[in-house]
Amino acid sequence: MTTMLEPAQIDFSQICVGGIFRAGEGGTGRSIDPTDGALVADYGIAGLGDVEEAVAMGRTAVEDPAWRNLKPHERARVLARIGDALEAHAEVISVLQTRDTGKTLAETRALALSAAGTFRYVAATLETMDEELTPPRGPWLTMSVHEPLGVVAAITPWNSPIASDAQKVAPALAAGNAVILKPAEWTPLVSLFFARLAYAAGLPKGLLSVLPGPGRIIGDALVRHEQVKKVSFTGGTVTGIRIAQIAATKLMPVSLELGGKSPTIVFPDADIEEAVAGVLYGVFSSTGQSCIAGSRLFVHESIREEFVDRLVARASALRMGRGDAPATQMAPMIHHRHRDHVAAMVDAAVAAGARVLCGGEVPQGEFAEGAWYPPTILDNVVNTDTICREEVFGPVLAVMSWSDEEDLVSQCNDNAYGLACGIWTRDYKAAWRIARRIEAGTVWINTYKQFSSSTPFGGVKESGLGREKGRHWVQSYMNQKAIYWGMSEQPIGWA
Ligand code: NAP
Repeated sequence: MTTMLEPAQIDFSQICVGGIFRAGEGGTGRSIDPTDGALVADYGIAGLGDVEEAVAMGRTAVEDPAWRNLKPHERARVLARIGDALEAHAEVISVLQTRDTGKTLAETRALALSAAGTFRYVAATLETMDEELTPPRGPWLTMSVHEPLGVVAAITPWNSPIASDAQKVAPALAAGNAVILKPAEWTPLVSLFFARLAYAAGLPKGLLSVLPGPGRIIGDALVRHEQVKKVSFTGGTVTGIRIAQIAATKLMPVSLELGGKSPTIVFPDADIEEAVAGVLYGVFSSTGQSCIAGSRLFVHESIREEFVDRLVARASALRMGRGDAPATQMAPMIHHRHRDHVAAMVDAAVAAGARVLCGGEVPQGEFAEGAWYPPTILDNVVNTDTICREEVFGPVLAVMSWSDEEDLVSQCNDNAYGLACGIWTRDYKAAWRIARRIEAGTVWINTYKQFSSSTPFGGVKESGLGREKGRHWVQSYMNQKAIYWGMSEQPIGWA
């Protein structure tokens, strides 16, 4: 039976140190609803002493025979119960996260259910995980086994909090580790609520800490800590590279899920209705705050005019509104500061010659108080312009056209990022040809922004390192060890 918790009963000014909920050494911060600037809750901030304590508790917990000696199927039961708790609380998590992030309820509900699904999928892979007996090449039995790393740090961004928390915490716990989660400063509330759920679901003490606090202090201290044995990071490329540099000095594995500037390609034979809907969803859902946003559109020049006209008409009709209003498609952005950053990027693009086909201005009137920015489509741009090279992380689409396939591929690949790509065509051979040549971790053909726990996800180039999801997810949080077991009746002949 899942114990039901209500966010209204929770004191968010308490951080979670190994399952002990108490004030953090860093005092408190204010979580603000970007819809109207209202206070959602004061939340606790960790200090460096909390990091030390969380790491020490994590080390003790992973060594405790009560956790260490659990069989995989027994550990899987703990994870499955956390998944059940997340599902049972999907509605309250959704409401809390909508207030904390401004996102639509439909999106935050989907994120909460995705987190539940992640725990269940990981529990299932743990139950069915094989170890290997390798073919002997001498008088031994040889095998390869996997063991926990110890204490792992998970550092997450603000754009999909509960889902990205689960994508790190579930496989790390499944592998037998302890996890210290450092959520983004703008969105700590669901992570603190999640810690309460996990412990109420029976997670043994010490195995999960949630330490909100500034990335440059708390995140940095976790990355540098000699007892932290892996960092799983999702966030911006600049931060990711800094973490990788520190990790290199400790020879510590890192997984990095970073930014993107993904191309979407429309062929002349595409189903126009499906492609228009897919492009709109790919770039404007989540108000564009998505690493895989399809923010560079390459439409074949023979259909450009019709396609762009339909795109602009449909984008202009998207409904802006509060995240908790059922009809809303374009909710506020995470924070006024981020909205202003997006607006400044659009202004700079326009100053450099881009033409605004729709959007492009901070809305006023009923939207003046919140952090809204409208769906914005720009043309008269080339692939080398800043607006086509740099991640905006907002609802901004740059439109270009193509006619030659070789040139198309080289323009798509001429970008520092390599996260995703969309292809819209009925020509299955062309789709295959292009899909194999684009430098990206994920390619969607006649669909976009779809995910499955069973399909590995990650980036190439400056979009990241390592993969999340899939059957080898749990092993990516483990050390691989070889065991040679002598079977010869003779002594080794050397001595
Ligand atoms: P960010 O500024 O890099 O922050 C991400 C996390 O890192 C936050 O928790 C942040 O803490 C922390 N951090 C900041 N500086 C740090 C440091 N020196 N050491 C350790 N941790 C540090 O990114 P963001 O603005 O929150 O997120 C947006 C970015 O995430 C975009 O680039 C987006 O593409 C990327 N993203 C990628 C994926 C993917 O799967 N590839 C998914 C989602 C988002 P504070 O909040 O306290 O600064």
